[in-house]
Amino acid sequence: MAKKAAAPTPNSKSTRSGAQKPADSQAAAPRAKGRQPDRGLERRVILLFLLLLGVVAAVAWAGGDSGPAALWLSDMGNRPADRAALDGRRIGVISGHRGHDSGAICDDGRQEAETVAAIVHHMERRLSRAGAQVDLLDEYDPRLINYAADALVSVHADSCIERSGFKIARWELSAMPAEEDRLVRCLSDSYAAATGLPFDADTITEDMTLYHAFRKLALDTPAAIVETGFLGGDWQLIGRRPAVAADGIVDGLVCFLGGPAALNIPTAPSQP
Ligand SMILES: [Zn+2]
Repeated sequence: MAKKAAAPTPNSKSTRSGAQKPADSQAAAPRAKGRQPDRGLERRVILLFLLLLGVVAAVAWAGGDSGPAALWLSDMGNRPADRAALDGRRIGVISGHRGHDSGAICDDGRQEAETVAAIVHHMERRLSRAGAQVDLLDEYDPRLINYAADALVSVHADSCIERSGFKIARWELSAMPAEEDRLVRCLSDSYAAATGLPFDADTITEDMTLYHAFRKLALDTPAAIVETGFLGGDWQLIGRRPAVAADGIVDGLVCFLGGPAALNIPTAPSQP
């Protein structure tokens, strides 16, 4: 290192001094002028690149879990269990209040139907990607009469109060309580794990346990209604991160349809 520093090269600045300087700077001036636009262009390209990077980051941030970046990342997500559990399955999803009314409406305009529609959109996307046949149903869809499927979930959200929690229920008059209890358990465990929300058993009402769609379905279609959270206290999750709520529900379906008990269900009626 000391050697390098001690040995000046012929081109180093220290050799240029005295009378030569004015001539040098004169000669250098036109060259400098010629280079300046290049350097400016370089700087502009770098600035443009940084600006573009900023815009991409802003779009990704603003889009939250439904933004293009998040969708791309979720598509990259490796979910081998999805296909095993869902491929070839028929799954009904009621987008709460769709085709009927808006459900709960808050003072600032937030509303239930729109909120759950975003969640259902993400559910449908993941279910379809795994090979399931998804029937997206209105609240009072005529197809609900005798509807037969491997599972049905109805997706809703609760009122605008500052309370937190989700709940899931099956039909009180279920023809197959053990099977539907398993569906409810799968959905509840998975939804709690995905969202971190507590199960709010205290606010389960007859609107859930005697939900109108339950008595319309084919008797052997396992079904549950999911109250994903409160438009008030859980808005940061159900409103801002619909993909997370959707994943919680789909995880529950993967648990139910891919679980060990699912393998024991006879696929055809036994011969007499
Ligand atoms: Zn509702």
